Amino acid sequence: TIGMVAIDANNQIHTGTSTNGARNKIPGRVGDSPIAGAGSYADNEVGAAVATGDGDIMMRFLPTFVAVEAMRAGKTPAEAAAEAVKRIVKHYKDFAGAVIAVNRLGHYAAACYGMPDFPFVVSSPAEATTVKTVKCMPASA
Ligand code: ASP
Repeated sequence: TIGMVAIDANNQIHTGTSTNGARNKIPGRVGDSPIAGAGSYADNEVGAAVATGDGDIMMRFLPTFVAVEAMRAGKTPAEAAAEAVKRIVKHYKDFAGAVIAVNRLGHYAAACYGMPDFPFVVSSPAEATTVKTVKCMPASA
């Protein structure tokens, strides 16, 4: 899955996802990516989030909605992304996936589980296009 968050010059926040469905590519499957709150979610007042991973699990937890609501409640993007991933891992120890959270000011972070690390790309007027990598939570998370 490719998940994107963009904040435009008018401070409008946009998200988009594109996926090949990974191993769950079966005819008729919609998956999590196009579902608001699952694959991505945005609120101009708060920020946005995008997710990748086992969509059949993620759809049950709406991780991008959880991350945005966590930021609304005062969490940092890092805390919000981690909260969304932990909410899933609590029930699915063999889950693999990641959530990227961005607040309305453009501060961002990612959290992941079930893999060693997770790369994502950042680009802004203040920051040249860069590949960042976050270490994923340990299996005990
Ligand atoms: N979330 C996608 C899906 O389940 C897969 C992925 O993120 O790679 O369709």
